[in-house]
This record gives sequence, C-alpha cells and structure tokens, in this order.
Amino acid sequence: MPKLQLIRPLVENLHPYVPGEQPRIKGLIKLNTNENPYSPSPRVLAAVQAAVDGRLRLYPNPTAQNLRTKLAKLHGCAAENILVGNGSDEVLALAVRGFVEPAHDSLFKFKSSRPWKAAVQYFTPSYSLYPVLADIHGAAKNAMPLNLDFSLPSVGDLKRSRKWDFNAALTFITTPNAPSGRGYATAELEQLCRVQRGVVVLDEAYVDFAEENALKLALKLPHVLVARTFSKAYSLCFQRVGYLVGHAELIAALDKIRDSYNVNGLGQAAAEATLDDLKYYRANFQKIIATRDRLTRELTALGFSVFPSQTNFILAQPPRFQAADWLQKLRDRKILVRWFGAPELREFLRITIGTPQEAAALVEAAREIGE
Ligand code: PMP
Repeated sequence: MPKLQLIRPLVENLHPYVPGEQPRIKGLIKLNTNENPYSPSPRVLAAVQAAVDGRLRLYPNPTAQNLRTKLAKLHGCAAENILVGNGSDEVLALAVRGFVEPAHDSLFKFKSSRPWKAAVQYFTPSYSLYPVLADIHGAAKNAMPLNLDFSLPSVGDLKRSRKWDFNAALTFITTPNAPSGRGYATAELEQLCRVQRGVVVLDEAYVDFAEENALKLALKLPHVLVARTFSKAYSLCFQRVGYLVGHAELIAALDKIRDSYNVNGLGQAAAEATLDDLKYYRANFQKIIATRDRLTRELTALGFSVFPSQTNFILAQPPRFQAADWLQKLRDRKILVRWFGAPELREFLRITIGTPQEAAALVEAAREIGE
C-alpha cells in the first residue's frame, strides 16, 4: 500500500520564512533582528501590568475598537480605514489571501496569455516574507530587481523592462527598503502607485526612522494600503501588533477573512498606551538616528562601505574578509548581526542600530578583526 499523503504537496515542498535567531546567550549584543534597544515607555509597562488580572479569562475586543479609534485620530482618518493584526506580518498575509487568486486557478485559465496576472509582485531585495506568503497561498510571484544602489526603477524603466506587471493583483513595496535601509520619496512612490491597477501595499515597517512617509497615499488612492507596525519604532515586538491603513472597502474585505480575535488583549492594551506616550518614542527615534549616523561614519572610517540608511539598521560591505566570515568573527566576540545568503546580498552585513554602547562595542570589535 503506498503511503497516504496527509500533507498538501504545496506545504511539503514549501521553503518557509526563516526568522532571525533569538539566542539567549548571556552578554550577547543582539543586532540581528532590528529590535529597538530601548524599553517600552514606563506608561506602557504599567498598562500591560494593570491588564494582567482575572480579565485574562475574557476574550479581547474582537475589532480592537479603541486602538483603531486612536490610530484613526493619529492618522486623520476613520476607524473604518484601519485593520489591526497580530504584527504587520499578519496583515501582509491577509492582503495576499484577500486580493490574489491562487495560481492554479489563474494559471489553468490564463497560462498562455499572462502567467503572472494574479501574481504577488515585489522588488528584490526586499522583505523575504513576501515570496513565502505567495508560496503558502499557491500564488504566482513576480520579483523585479531594484537598481544596484537599491533605488526604485523609474516607471519608464519598468515599462521598458517588460518584466514588471502593471496588472499584478498585489504589489508590495518596502519603504524605506529593507535590508538596504534606502528611503524613497513619496512623490516617486505616488508615480508608481498611480500606474498600478492592482492593490499596492506600502510596507512602512521602518518609516519612523525615515525623512518621509507615504501615509497620505493610502488616504488618497483607493487601491493603496500602508502597513505599519509597533514592533520596531515602538519597542513592542513581543506583543505583536501591526496595522493597515487604507480605503474602507479594502479594509472591510480583509476584516471578513481575519481571525475573530486576531489581536490579543495585552497587545491591544500596550499599543493603546504607546499612542498615549508618543513623546517618549520620538525621543528614542532621535537617539537611534544619531547612533546610526555615528556608526555609519565610524565603520566607513574602518573601510566598510555603508549604504545611507533611513531605518534602524544599516547594510554594510565589510573590508578584508567575506561578509560570512565577519558574521562568525563578530559572533566569536558575542556580537550577532544578520547575513543573507542571497547572491545580491552575500557581500553585506545587516546591522541593527543598538544603544551607543552597543555600537561602540561593534566598532571596537570591527577594529580588532580588521587589523
Ligand atoms: N515588514 C518588514 C519590512 C519587516 O522587516 C518586518 C519585520 N521582520 C515586518 C514587516 C513585520 O513586522 P511585525 O510582524 O513584527 O509587525
């Protein structure tokens, strides 16, 4: 008897997303997953602690109503324009499920004419979760290389390339870009959004560290959504809260397919308290930006080639040894950074901006290794 196949072939063959390591090594300087080095504000810690009581037996608010109302006030829109998720990863996954037909439907019907009509489209390099989300959904993918300096190809270049699909059902743009840290002008993003006929998600996970944000595009153009997260700028990775802003019709569609209680109660409490204490966080953004600019200067002086960053990390090509060797040499000195094996990234290290002390320890280690 042949063995029964219990698992879908798609799942069996899936290459899952690989999160950055979370080792618990004493004294480790952890600069590999773009976490914020500063604690959540005392008011946020107090709000979470105050919520830990007998109410844990109750379901949380199913629509994160208070949080959505506060976010709407912050962004100058209505609560109907906001969908909250279990981290922005969840809202990105919802967008794939809500807007893209799985490939077996579209490919069988349309294969000869336009194989990626229903595709999930994105630039490379960018957030490596997008292709995985497409694969999980069984959707076709269309990956378009960024320019060598990680700038966006112009609309004219995209037209000439013949590879870019202006009809893609869903296009993800990471802005500022990860893992390069490059920021994009809102005017440039608007030009690109305006020529896309499908949904465009502007993934602004790192935008609080940038010069510009493109939120107004989500409020102006009916097919554009902006994804934000409390993880990075608001020191709240642990609680998993992210959200989408956009046209009420798209938001309502995704609201139909999310889990009823997708945002846990402590996460809602923490995110609400965060919005009551934005001053605390804005001061942290300034500290992180100052450390980023100083680290960029110091590593450049040691022979690293560092791309200008508008995020809380930098992408840098180290001198003398291969980047993969640097990863190990830094690890030997208890400093953990991120290395990606993709051909266009293997020469680089991605380094999260930590505290000034952590940055100084990195520079010191780099000086020793490079000598
Ligand atoms: N978008 C980008 C570009 C990211 O780097 C990340 C973090 N890995 C996310 C979204 C997801 O963040 P979270 O799910 O913690 O909100």
